[in-house]
Amino acid sequence: MYEAMRSAELGDDVLGDEPTVQRLEALAASKLGKEAAVFVPSGTMGNQIALATHTSPGDSALFEDEAHMLYYECAAPAVISGVLARSMPSVNGVVDPSEIKKRRLVSDEHTPGTTLLCIENTHNRHGGAVTRVETHREYRRVADDLGMKIHLDGARVFNAAVSLGVDVKEIASQVDSVNFCLSKGLCSPVGSVLCGPKRFIEGARQWRKRLGGGMRQAGILAACGIVSLEKMVCRLAEDHERARRLGEACKNVPGMSPLPVPTNIVMVDTERPADEWQHKLEEVGVQCFSFAPHRLRFVTHRDVGDDEVSFAIEKISELGREFG
Ligand SMILES: *Cc1c(COP(=O)(O)O)cnc(C)c1O
Repeated sequence: MYEAMRSAELGDDVLGDEPTVQRLEALAASKLGKEAAVFVPSGTMGNQIALATHTSPGDSALFEDEAHMLYYECAAPAVISGVLARSMPSVNGVVDPSEIKKRRLVSDEHTPGTTLLCIENTHNRHGGAVTRVETHREYRRVADDLGMKIHLDGARVFNAAVSLGVDVKEIASQVDSVNFCLSKGLCSPVGSVLCGPKRFIEGARQWRKRLGGGMRQAGILAACGIVSLEKMVCRLAEDHERARRLGEACKNVPGMSPLPVPTNIVMVDTERPADEWQHKLEEVGVQCFSFAPHRLRFVTHRDVGDDEVSFAIEKISELGREFG
């Protein structure tokens, strides 16, 4: 990636002539099977640009209860787009399609009509849960019936595709727009790409500029994104396998109850406060998050190999014995 940055051909993306950014956008659009794409600084910005582009102030939009777009994006739907967020329950991160009709509102003199459905795949707060393509098809049918658009928060959509053993296009074909992160498992330092129809992406470019997301010689970052798409997708299965091994090992640790591990996120419920686990593990060189008072989150990625997973398992097991 450093080499790709060093040798990237650069221009000015604000003026619309950044060759490396254009290459990344074309590559992303073709991988996702969409007409066009726009490079954005973060997943949060990509999601909120999509929301703003799809909706008008006074609309409402539907999200799953624990969606990243509701939890971690500073009420941007309200603050930036003037959109009322309504949430839907799920079973382990997967919304039953029947919930959409129950929760959507029909616009009239009193009610803010629901014009957008947002789906998250894989689902961050549900431990990397995967939504199947068949379920996406059902969302599509319901949304078409109700005249709603669909945005996919696909920060980790490549993890979903790899886990399902499908081309990512199969998932993307069921939504109007999709945002995915080049960072995280795909290893870039910065950046996301929002993909969708040509007209939608034109609107998204205006929103990106409005939010201050126009970046000039951004090819230095887009160069990394190209490496992510060409070289990093095919290794995500390794992350999933290592996460699965870590989750399995945690089953044998006293005071720990791991949740199922569908992709690269390992959620573990702990008898002791998760903070205690986090601090003690940090001291011995294992990084994780205390995700809730009694829940830890571990994530695998390219820099966590088999040896690092073995090391983590050893340290977690030692601490488990110490905690009794
Ligand atoms: C990380 C993440 C985002 C946001 O990405 P940032 O680049 O951190 O802004 C959005 N949605 C999901 C599901 C994520 O995991």
